[in-house]
Amino acid sequence: MARYAMAIDLDRCVGCGACVLACKGEWNVMDGGARDWVIPILPEGRFPDVASTFYTGLCNHCDEPSCVPACPTGATYQDESGRVRVDKDLCIGCGYCVAACPYGARYHDARVHKVDKCDFCAERLDPDPHREPACVQTCPASARIFGDLSDPSSRINALVYGSPARRLETAEVAIGPNVYYLGDAHHVDQILAHHPPDPHRTVPPLPGLVWSRFLRPAVLAGVAVAFAGQAAAFFYQLARGEKPFGE
Ligand code: SF4
Ligand code: SF4
Repeated sequence: MARYAMAIDLDRCVGCGACVLACKGEWNVMDGGARDWVIPILPEGRFPDVASTFYTGLCNHCDEPSCVPACPTGATYQDESGRVRVDKDLCIGCGYCVAACPYGARYHDARVHKVDKCDFCAERLDPDPHREPACVQTCPASARIFGDLSDPSSRINALVYGSPARRLETAEVAIGPNVYYLGDAHHVDQILAHHPPDPHRTVPPLPGLVWSRFLRPAVLAGVAVAFAGQAAAFFYQLARGEKPFGE
C-alpha cells in the first residue's frame, strides 16, 4: 500500500503562488479559504548573512493527526495511504477539527457549512495514479515533489531519505508531518520561527473533547448493547419455539 508524502524544495520555490492558484481552481476553494499557501518571510540577518524564504505549506497529513480524534462524526479520517481526508457527507461543520490543527491547515467553507482542506488531490489521483496533485503539476520551478514514500524506487523516497529533509516539528508539536522540506536548513528554521505549529491546538475544544472521548463511545456502546440484547432475545425465543415479537 502506498504511503503518500510531499517534498517542497525551498531552494527552488520562487514564491510565485501558482500552486495556490492551481489548487483554488481545481477545488473551487472559497474566497478567504486556503488548502495551501505561500507566505513570504522577508530578509533577515546582517549582510552578507541575509536570508529570506517562503512558507510554502499545506496539510501535513500527519501520522498522528490531532484533527482526527477531534471530529465528533468520524468525517475526518485517515485513509490506508496515510492521507487525512474529510467525508463531506458526514461533516456537520462544527469546526472542532479546525481548532485542533496546529498548522491552521483547515478552513470552514461557509458556502456549504463544511470543513475543507488539502487531501493530496485524492479524487484526482485515485482514478489515475500517474497524475500529480494540481500544485505539483503547476509549479514552474519544480519545487514540489509528490509520491509514494514507501516505494524505494520513487523520487520522493530518494529525496527524503537521501538528503537532510526536515519537517515542521517542534518539541511541543511532533505529530509526524508527511510534508518534507528540502534545501537550506536555515529556511526551515525561519519558517518555524515565524510560523511555529501551535501547541495549544493539538486537542479539540472542550465540548468536542467530551463528545469524541466520552459521549460518542458511550452512545456507540449503548447502541451495541441494545442490539445485542434484541438479538439474544430473538434467538432465545426461536430456540424455545416461540414466535418472535409476539406474532
Ligand atoms: Fe490534521 Fe492539521 Fe495534521 Fe493536516 S496538518 S493532518 S489538518 S493536524
Ligand atoms: Fe513555489 Fe512552485 Fe508554489 Fe511557485 S508554484 S510558490 S515556485 S511551490
